Amino acid sequence: MSLRTDAVNHVSHGNVNSPDIKGAKITGVFGENVFTLKTAREYLSDEAYKSLVASIKGGKKIDRTVASQIASGMRAWAESKGVTHYTHWFQPLTGTTAEKHDSFFTLKGDGTAIEEFEGAALIQQEPDASSFPNGGLRATFEARGYSAWDPSSPPFIIEIGNGKTLCIPTIFIAYTGESLDYKAPLMKAVESLNKAAVTVCNYFDKNVTKVTPTLGWEQEYFVIDEALVNARPDLVQCGRTVFGFTPAKGQQLEDHYFGSIPERVYAFMRDFENESYKLGIPLRTRHNEVAPAQFECAPIFEEVNIAVDHNILLMDVMTRVAKRHRLVVLLHEKPFAGINGSGKHNNWSLATDTGVNLLAPGKTPKTNLMFLTFFVNTIKAVHDYADILRASIASASNDFRLGANEAPPAIISVFVGDYLTKVLNDVETRVGSKFDEQDEAILKIDLHRSIPELLIDNTDRNRTSPFAFTGNKFEFRAVGSTANCALPMTVLNTIVADTLNKFAAEVDALIEKGDKKEIAIMQVIQKYIVSSKKILFEGDGYSEAWHKEAEKRGLPNLKTTPVALDAMVTEKAKKVFLENRIYTHAELEARHEIELEKYIKKVQIEARVMGDLATNHIIPASIKYQNELLKNVSLLREASLPEKLYKGQLTLLKDVSTHIQEVYDNVHEMVEARKVANNIENTREKAIAYEAKVKAQYFDKIRYHVDKLEQLVDDELWTLPKYRELLFLR
Ligand code: ADP
Ligand code: MG
Repeated sequence: MSLRTDAVNHVSHGNVNSPDIKGAKITGVFGENVFTLKTAREYLSDEAYKSLVASIKGGKKIDRTVASQIASGMRAWAESKGVTHYTHWFQPLTGTTAEKHDSFFTLKGDGTAIEEFEGAALIQQEPDASSFPNGGLRATFEARGYSAWDPSSPPFIIEIGNGKTLCIPTIFIAYTGESLDYKAPLMKAVESLNKAAVTVCNYFDKNVTKVTPTLGWEQEYFVIDEALVNARPDLVQCGRTVFGFTPAKGQQLEDHYFGSIPERVYAFMRDFENESYKLGIPLRTRHNEVAPAQFECAPIFEEVNIAVDHNILLMDVMTRVAKRHRLVVLLHEKPFAGINGSGKHNNWSLATDTGVNLLAPGKTPKTNLMFLTFFVNTIKAVHDYADILRASIASASNDFRLGANEAPPAIISVFVGDYLTKVLNDVETRVGSKFDEQDEAILKIDLHRSIPELLIDNTDRNRTSPFAFTGNKFEFRAVGSTANCALPMTVLNTIVADTLNKFAAEVDALIEKGDKKEIAIMQVIQKYIVSSKKILFEGDGYSEAWHKEAEKRGLPNLKTTPVALDAMVTEKAKKVFLENRIYTHAELEARHEIELEKYIKKVQIEARVMGDLATNHIIPASIKYQNELLKNVSLLREASLPEKLYKGQLTLLKDVSTHIQEVYDNVHEMVEARKVANNIENTREKAIAYEAKVKAQYFDKIRYHVDKLEQLVDDELWTLPKYRELLFLR
């Protein structure tokens, strides 16, 4: 029996594995595996607790002796839950998370065995940096790196089987000071944004002392039976199918979206949601997505730093819990050709410590103007730095999705809705050199009544825009489903911080010249609207017409990762990241190099998997069928039947033979093209060669012939599970 038939049989016998979830209320388990401030209150001395709070709320440093008190409190709590080990948990540039477990258990000098967790071990550890990507930061690589405790993200306990580990969120830095992870730059960007936004907020409200970016991500994913996945080496190794004919029933009926969730998947969802609740991940919604076997979940938004950790944790939890249900979660942006891929919408806004959402239209003229200020500054930031924002979401896997007529195009534009378009036009035409105090009427635009209703309830939404205003937040939709949100969030927060700083400088200059504050603000807003107008687009982002129009407007349309990444290392990028203290030039160059290397490796692996599958699955199965046809034809000939009675077989034989030969030739040519690419020194040139000479040149061509063979060859001989089996078996 082939792996495929075995897998298909397995699925039909697979039963629902309902999770054993105690209690009905989510609040009963929520955060039970998190060292929250409430838990800290219980386990820490007054001094240790106050120091922890000061560090979380005000970024104050915790001194070593207090750290030891905190560490032993954490250990006492963790041990009460059966934890034996701890680890520093961080997000290196590989894109996954890293951990190295140590036990609390230790032997003292005199041989006594005790359990301990010292302050020093909480604050800092030294995992070997050399095995993580460092992008040519050679000195860094030799100097090694260390992980440093980030008190702003609470420690949590990961349960795997019966084993429990206390995870301490950390950042990962080189001894030479360069950051080697996704979190350290994000935290810097959050701080830059805080400073810039507080300055601007204070024009309107002196009470604001802190502004925090908020993030609510929406995670899309596919769920496929484990046995079927195991019978597809491409899914196992690349997370996507490199071959596969799109079945007669794809998503054209659109019957999956918001349809009822299959029972087996539902059991899985409840299980991973429950695990997520224990970890304090505030999941809120679950539903089917557009494609068959595709689903989505989303939490309540949180501070960006925590939201990023929670998303990474969730991806990990989902992957692990799926195993218990004999399912596999595919987080890849495009696991199946011909049906929708997956994204991770990043809903983003700014919250003040006075409880105001700065992107929610206000109720008074003053708060209206504050809203308009942050709204226009964000648009201006996206306009000025669209190329860097594009680079922040570039990856080999996202290339399959962006612009594939189901996802936002690679062209960055901003959608704001009819009403705000009118408001912007109004401001643009009415304010200006002739602006005087009588025109203060403009400040009284009645924003709050009209916008929320239109946008929040979906009536005025545009699903094709990569960056859309949705009533009280912006939604960055071009982020890929496998991505760590930290990178796009670092870029977005940095460019908005930068824009706000410039805004404040311009406003101050006008005030100094004698303008009234509100008038100065309106003038700069107007100037920003004029100068960033070309980024606004309300139409269909999927249409050919938009691609033409965008080109006319001079908006970049970089379709592939190797060239999109250029934007990370331009003079403009270096300047904005350095001035806002996010990345040094060396760090930027290193990251650029790492992203290019990741791209090359991904394409390389896919090309190899394609070659393997073609050689070991597709061609052998096709040759078997070719032989059967040959035998059949020669027997018919022996029986002296007139040829017109087996014309069909002859045509089949010819077609099968042609496709076999095409697959064979193209696979061999692709191997040669890879060899040429491998010999290129320069990483960027090499990535471009992998894109143009390997991927673009051969992937679709080989797939075309393989998918033809899939349609011709006897189903019994075909060894790889087909789309209709992967996607529709429940
Ligand atoms: P939809 O976009 O599907 O209509 P919602 O608007 O309710 O759904 O929210 C989508 C996501 O946006 C959720 O994760 C939600 O928490 C998040 N979100 C809502 N408000 C904010 C905000 N102020 N900042 C960041 N994210 C937010
Ligand atoms: Mg949404």
